[in-house]
Amino acid sequence: MNQLLEISLPLPGREQSYQIVISPGLRLRLAACLEPLHLPRRLFLVADTRVARLYGAEVSKSLQDAGYTIELLTVAPGERTKSWPTIVRSARRLLASGADRHTALVALGGGVVGDLTGFLASIYMRGLPCVQVPTTLLAMVDASIGGKTAVNLPEGKNLLGTFHQPALVVIDPEFLRTLPPPERLNGLAEVLKAGFIRQPDLLGRIAKCRRRLFDTPAELTNIIYTAAAIKAQIVVADEREADVRRLLNFGHTVGHALEAASGFQLSHGQAVACGMLAALQLSVQLADLSPATASYGAGLIRDCGLGRSLPPLNHDAILAALPRDKKRQGQDLVFVLLKELGEPVIFSGVPLSLVDQILRQQWPAISGQ
Ligand code: ADP
Ligand code: ZN
Repeated sequence: MNQLLEISLPLPGREQSYQIVISPGLRLRLAACLEPLHLPRRLFLVADTRVARLYGAEVSKSLQDAGYTIELLTVAPGERTKSWPTIVRSARRLLASGADRHTALVALGGGVVGDLTGFLASIYMRGLPCVQVPTTLLAMVDASIGGKTAVNLPEGKNLLGTFHQPALVVIDPEFLRTLPPPERLNGLAEVLKAGFIRQPDLLGRIAKCRRRLFDTPAELTNIIYTAAAIKAQIVVADEREADVRRLLNFGHTVGHALEAASGFQLSHGQAVACGMLAALQLSVQLADLSPATASYGAGLIRDCGLGRSLPPLNHDAILAALPRDKKRQGQDLVFVLLKELGEPVIFSGVPLSLVDQILRQQWPAISGQ
């Protein structure tokens, strides 16, 4: 049997902690992972139709064999599912099936299903336990950790949400075998980010296997473990030390602006990768990062298949979408930059004109209308 890697996270304000467990094949040993938690024996498995088709039957069967009662609740794939109407519809389906407080939810899916299920679990009958079983790399190393839940409003993403820590996070890297390449890259951008801000060694390990990473199960498992542990360590530290969580924004200042300017056509991972390329350039100019280190980082991002091109975007729309520092009359920006690999600094006072110049240099075609 594969080795079980574990990360323990304290529950905010309480003595207990919860675990993130990682091992190939865990989806078929979910019942053994749940056993010590003494959860209700009645579980609702929430999945989008695509993930349900791929994994719903085997995951349900392994839980049923261990004596759990399972019902499957499916939603449509895609970001539009992360909405208030889906919450209401799903809650009414739970009610119609007789789900009461002696029920737990299991989120089987990517970030969309994880956020939606976590939110539903946090409000249904004033709160049910929720187990997260992420099936995308992005959800494994990012969205499933930290207890943030949300749905979108037509006005913007994640505007309705709660903090609801999961009872357990179960990561089975074998789910990634069926994950389409663009979705793999989406998560890889966040793994690289974790390396840039906390662990240069992780970058070295990715550089060694590059495109073969997803065909190397042992290395993939270790890389997921490292990136998940970095995210866990940062969200825990943030409860004591305000602002540590802001380090997770490396690459995201420009990344979010690119996503918004593309009308969310550009994937989060590609946008963040471009944002990291811009942040590396800014770090050379403002934070004394050596040009050689910046070019090593940029080379690695590109070698992974990230940040190579952008769809035509309106340059003014990107600049307009950059979040301004309200304390500084709105002209300067706040960025997470690097002094060295693994040594981030929060830099307020980045001139908009410099960001403008770097964007134009890096992606000359960007100024197309
Ligand atoms: P995230 O927010 O984590 O990037 P989503 O929840 O939006 O991911 O899922 C992205 C897409 O990938 C969805 O269409 C989903 O059905 C699909 N998907 C999720 N996990 C898998 C998997 N392991 N294999 C194949 N497709 C998957
Ligand atoms: Zn992100």
